[in-house]
Amino acid sequence: MKRRTKRIRRRNAWMLTLLILLILTSISGFIFIMSQVENSNNNTPQEEIEKEKAREAKRVVVINEAHQLVKGYYYQEAIDLLKSDSEIFNDKMKSEVKKIEDFMIELKPYIGRIEHVFFHSLIVYPELAFGPNSSQPQGYNYWMTTALEFQRMLPLLMERGYVLVRISDLYDVDSLGNVTKKDVYLPEGKRPLLMSIDNVGYPENRKKEGFASRLFINQNNEVSAMIRNLEGLEIESRTAEVFPIVDDFVKENPQFSYRGAKGLLGITGSWGVMGYDPKIASEVTTAKVIVQRLKETGWEFANHSYTHADGKYFSENSTLEGIKEDTQLFKQWITPVIGESNVFIAPFGITLKGELYQYFIDEGYAFYLNVDRRSQPKILGKSVLMPRINLDGFVMNKDKEYINQHFFDVDKVYDDRRPAFE
Ligand SMILES: [Zn+2]
Repeated sequence: MKRRTKRIRRRNAWMLTLLILLILTSISGFIFIMSQVENSNNNTPQEEIEKEKAREAKRVVVINEAHQLVKGYYYQEAIDLLKSDSEIFNDKMKSEVKKIEDFMIELKPYIGRIEHVFFHSLIVYPELAFGPNSSQPQGYNYWMTTALEFQRMLPLLMERGYVLVRISDLYDVDSLGNVTKKDVYLPEGKRPLLMSIDNVGYPENRKKEGFASRLFINQNNEVSAMIRNLEGLEIESRTAEVFPIVDDFVKENPQFSYRGAKGLLGITGSWGVMGYDPKIASEVTTAKVIVQRLKETGWEFANHSYTHADGKYFSENSTLEGIKEDTQLFKQWITPVIGESNVFIAPFGITLKGELYQYFIDEGYAFYLNVDRRSQPKILGKSVLMPRINLDGFVMNKDKEYINQHFFDVDKVYDDRRPAFE
């Protein structure tokens, strides 16, 4: 009896061992299969090191790109980019995300003055613009800025905290045309700057007076300027107009542009559109491609009147009939080239009143831009009356202290190739 029990016990022990062995082999087999599934391609240590190296290289690129986005005020986009590839997302990238999130929490809506500066086409060759064959050396000395001055201004404006923004970053217009102020969140010490360039057209005489001759798109798909140089040859220049100068500057200094904003081109019918005739089909085709590229790169367009003329159009004697005629001509010839715009830049900075001002609101222009060096934008009915300041020879001479205080040290900018100021 005892022996039998012993035999049975031994058999049971054997069976138990067998069972345990069976379970162990199945588990290890399963683990082995799973590990094969995970590292289906390769799993030698050397290859794993190489893979991690590649992931780390990718991380460096993505983190750099995210830093550039943050500089240009694209915060959420930077976070999205950091999180976009789960293969490379690790603790280091998590902490990058956290840094941006913490920074965003600290941002406050900007409170303070809104400055809107404006320019005309730049003087590239002062010896021509102010020379004996110039059509209006004094006018140019007053109302124009030289390319050298413009290039000197940008870093100084940036030092003062200015950041280019769009009007739509500062105001909302609803479907009924009601305009309201909108908060713009900028880091401490930064302040918004609006910029516009009037009369972006290049009449024949200007081409011989040291100004650019037209805009065009160069081999790198950049909007560039053509200019007739001192030898009379037409050449490309990246420093002959506001547009390539600003584009190149922002590329180097993304912190100078809020989410890619650049400036507004005020187009005038009688001057042509950026060097192209709006009444010649082939020129319209070329101009439209440039418009498209400018819009893609942060530039916007405004109606700066069709006639750019005084008398019944834009003067003390403006008539409703005159401005209606002007606006309809603009919509007929220029709007098809530049697209719709809700910004009107008044010629000569004139501020129309009463039904004349209302006419522009009714025609869909929510923003009426005039010229005034001190006042601030005001909401008037379903519009904003927005003053602008000209940073040109006149203002740098006649209002130097104000410019020193608000924008830059005039002595560091002023082009001494200008003739004496009267
Ligand atoms: Zn003008």
